[in-house]
Amino acid sequence: MGAVIVVRKTVGGALRGGHPWVFRDSVVKVRGTLHAGDAVAVEDDAFLGMAIADPGSPIVARMWTHDKRVPDGKLFEERLRRAVALRSRAFDGETTAMRLLHGEGDRTPGIVIDRYAHVAVVRTDGDAADAALPAFLPAMIKVLGEQGITTIIKKQEGAVVTLDGEAAPPRIRIREHGIPFWVDLAKGQKTGAFLDQRENRRRVRGLAAGRRVLNLFSYAGGFSLFAAVGGATHVTSVDIASGGHATAQDSFRLAGVDPQAHSFATADAFEFLKSAAQQKKMWDLVVCDPPSFAPNEKSRVRALTAYRKLHRAAAEVLSPSGIFCASSCSSHVSAEAFLETLDDETLGRADLRLQEFFGPPSDHPTLPTFPEGRYLKFAVLA
Ligand code: SAH
Repeated sequence: MGAVIVVRKTVGGALRGGHPWVFRDSVVKVRGTLHAGDAVAVEDDAFLGMAIADPGSPIVARMWTHDKRVPDGKLFEERLRRAVALRSRAFDGETTAMRLLHGEGDRTPGIVIDRYAHVAVVRTDGDAADAALPAFLPAMIKVLGEQGITTIIKKQEGAVVTLDGEAAPPRIRIREHGIPFWVDLAKGQKTGAFLDQRENRRRVRGLAAGRRVLNLFSYAGGFSLFAAVGGATHVTSVDIASGGHATAQDSFRLAGVDPQAHSFATADAFEFLKSAAQQKKMWDLVVCDPPSFAPNEKSRVRALTAYRKLHRAAAEVLSPSGIFCASSCSSHVSAEAFLETLDDETLGRADLRLQEFFGPPSDHPTLPTFPEGRYLKFAVLA
């Protein structure tokens, strides 16, 4: 007999609705012993489904089924196959990098796979996913191999581990909507690039023609490149780390744009905006995509203050007919709360209106009852 987690009745409702997380403080009792990565049954006064246990985490289990099926290699293969099939319908050959498997949203909680051309990068969230990974690896090799992926690596705490195939190149060339650029697999953040902003980069390309563009928190210059290709007269990229600028400049060259015709500033975005305002500098399109200001619930209020300060400062350098693209990747900041950091009073101007507002793209699916998955917000104010 495997272990069983019994949860409070009030929590059972959410789990029945598809919320995948069993929080420790919702557990009434545990029958048997939990080991990270093991299948465990979850029930309230009735059976709820099968999960994978993570006894060391505040999320003690993540749900995989609403029935008795055990989350094993076979079930993983089925889910991965379905996820890959959905992407192959959504993407054409113009885009060679995408999230193939989005953990909770693809009903493989804790396991993410990003594709960069022939390389797949796996990331796990929590000890349970790590412990379960060896059981899933044969299916991963099979399904991804059929897609032309020849190397599977895993990124953990900055290190790159090869799970299958030849070692991955430190840097790889990909295309998004036909535009080529470089991705730093070894040194880059997350799995290499921020694939969740792909559709927003395309939107920025569509907005940039004839405009002076400021890209704050530019990292490897994704938004900058799309703005330049879209016909921006000049693009200024600002990031506190210089590493991303080198990659950005190489990507500009790859796409046939002269990086010398644009500016790359290594600076704190808040400081940069302050001195730009003092010098009365203006831009016609400002893109602002900072790192998560709220890594946990406790930092939420402080994060909202930081967003307000940043948005105010960005509004000060935005020309009268300018467009402001403001983004947030904090799951602890709701869409409504984020929009409040863009109100007239905060911005100190009353000429902007919310033209469009986007969430995560189709390769980052979420579940209706899992708001934690809808972390990405992208507001276009004009
Ligand atoms: N917009 C990027 C992703 C941004 S990631 C894209 O679409 O690819 C966040 C970036 O913010 C990182 O590159 C980090 O170096 C930078 N950063 C963090 N704090 C900063 C600060 N105070 N000022 C400027 N850049 C900062």
